[in-house]
Amino acid sequence: MKFEPLDSTRMKFARVLLLAIAASFMASCAGVAVSHRSPPGVTVDLVPRGMYARRVIRPMRPTYITIHATENRSRGAGAYSHAQMQKRGSLKGRHNSIGYVSWHFTVDDHSTYQSLPTNERGEHADYDGHGNRSSIGIEMCENRGNDRARTIDRTARLTAWLMKEHGIPLSHVVPHMHWRMIRHDDHRDLGHKKCPHFLLDRGQLGPKWNAFLAKVAAYHRAL
Ligand SMILES: [Zn+2]
Repeated sequence: MKFEPLDSTRMKFARVLLLAIAASFMASCAGVAVSHRSPPGVTVDLVPRGMYARRVIRPMRPTYITIHATENRSRGAGAYSHAQMQKRGSLKGRHNSIGYVSWHFTVDDHSTYQSLPTNERGEHADYDGHGNRSSIGIEMCENRGNDRARTIDRTARLTAWLMKEHGIPLSHVVPHMHWRMIRHDDHRDLGHKKCPHFLLDRGQLGPKWNAFLAKVAAYHRAL
């Protein structure tokens, strides 16, 4: 009978292990355990929980990825500075319900910053529309001195990683222009913003956007 204490310890361990496996399985079935791992090479520098664009936590299951360009030509307006602006609450959104503009990732030619977890909603596409409620927002920097080709390439690589991580198809990688902007407070229809302007051809989807998608697809295949 001297093995009995050992057996019962083993039984307890097995029971705890089984419970843990069951709990994690149930959580993923219930959609609770939505992935929000950060991509490799990304500096995570989030808006503080409970403040500014995250003063209310609004869960999201990402099914789209929306690509933007900052249209900020100021020197030094790279990924770091856009992350700091979000973090300090200096990007006000007068016409959205949270009161701040926010997005998930900012990319420049040498760095990428993450400002929101990918399982939380941002305010970058279309006020209370489907774009904000369902998509991860990526901003490409265009500050003076920033290498655009490298920025686009790094954005494509990030997009591919996010597609794989969240099971998002290439058809759901869209330019900001995809979403129609209707303001919820005064019901003004602002139409489709020509964004990201440097991946459009005369303001429309064309060869430049297709080349970007081809790059994303190539990186996705290589993962
Ligand atoms: Zn945009």
